[in-house]
Amino acid sequence: MSVLDFKKSFTQQEAITPEAIAEAVRVLQTGRLHRYNTIEGEDGDTALWEQDYAAYQGAAFCLATTSGGTAMQIALRAVGVQAGDAVLTNAFTLAPVPGAVAAVGATPIFVETTENLTIDLEDLSAKLLASSAKFLLLSHMRGHLTDMDALCTLLTRSGVVLIEDCAHTMGAEWNGTKSGNFGKVACFSTQTYKHLNSGEGGLLTTNDPDVMARSIILSGSYMLFEKHLVRPDKEAFETARFESPNCSSRLDNLRAAILRPQLANLDKNVERWNRRYKILENGLSNAANAVVPVRPDKEFYVGSSFQFLVPLCPDEACRSFVAACKKRGVELKWFGDANPVGFTSRYDSWTYAPEQSLPQTINVLRRVMDLRVPLSFTEGDCETIGTIIFEELAQIQA
Ligand SMILES: *Cc1c(COP(=O)(O)O)cnc(C)c1O
Repeated sequence: MSVLDFKKSFTQQEAITPEAIAEAVRVLQTGRLHRYNTIEGEDGDTALWEQDYAAYQGAAFCLATTSGGTAMQIALRAVGVQAGDAVLTNAFTLAPVPGAVAAVGATPIFVETTENLTIDLEDLSAKLLASSAKFLLLSHMRGHLTDMDALCTLLTRSGVVLIEDCAHTMGAEWNGTKSGNFGKVACFSTQTYKHLNSGEGGLLTTNDPDVMARSIILSGSYMLFEKHLVRPDKEAFETARFESPNCSSRLDNLRAAILRPQLANLDKNVERWNRRYKILENGLSNAANAVVPVRPDKEFYVGSSFQFLVPLCPDEACRSFVAACKKRGVELKWFGDANPVGFTSRYDSWTYAPEQSLPQTINVLRRVMDLRVPLSFTEGDCETIGTIIFEELAQIQA
């Protein structure tokens, strides 16, 4: 065995560019950080950021929020989810997703997970029939897109409204259509570990004027909604302005100012992520004890993280594998651990949701290993990481 070790941090993103820093300083010097604090003739950075992102996404309307989680809460309310409603969602996702469902007083109904880490359409189909759910909050978890054509056919047939969680698919496409443009509304995150970095932050896009009018009021626009640049006509706000509660979730001009220059680099960064992903995928192509999820031809993904499945083995074997990689500097997240650790957690640890049995998801999660691929890693770093994982996989006593 080689004695190669890896030294870099798996949580270190690239620095904010000098251009974005200059934009931040410019906003700070005005003192006008609140999005509606603008002077005559000024649009404000948040309104401009929404305009930029709407253009990138190819959506009619866009709203910037304080986080991806608040974007999802607003989206759920705006499409009409009421307290007590059932909302279908992925069993394999991260905590802000069921958290958003719970925040609006609704009940998450979890759907099983395939070995390719996407929502299981067969189980979804069964649950569409068995439950009264009229909404699906679909999480494109770790950037894996399900067959969106099949999914949309299924949902149209049952009249279920789709809300897309694109926290891991900003910039991704299915068959030439951007992820986020399939549902009634899409939510994105600009939290540090996602594809753009404003520390915290979120976005919501839609083509539906009523959904956007409600979302703008819900986000806490008071009666200042006319200051939004990518918004529906004033008439769309007639009911929403009185009926939608103010949930104070506005993005500020400072964060918008550092996001605007980053968007210009997004597509270039997607290519950089995908080159790194390919290196890791090739590195494990002949490895013992590993299966890398299949990426369909119609999927254009963003490889900002990498997953592989080990054989179903005792928890202890998984823990020793993770520990052996860690010892050599490679931080893997094992979603199968019954104890929530770090950012990961399993659906059965969200005890505010009714108890549900998802044996297939448990078996998949017991096998999934996950690693972040920050752009601070070079392609050479990814070769090293691939070699370390390859060598340690051979040691698993499956
Ligand atoms: C990060 C993330 C979100 C949104 O999270 P915020 O931290 O609230 O921006 C939503 N879904 C998934 C799967 C995520 O990883």
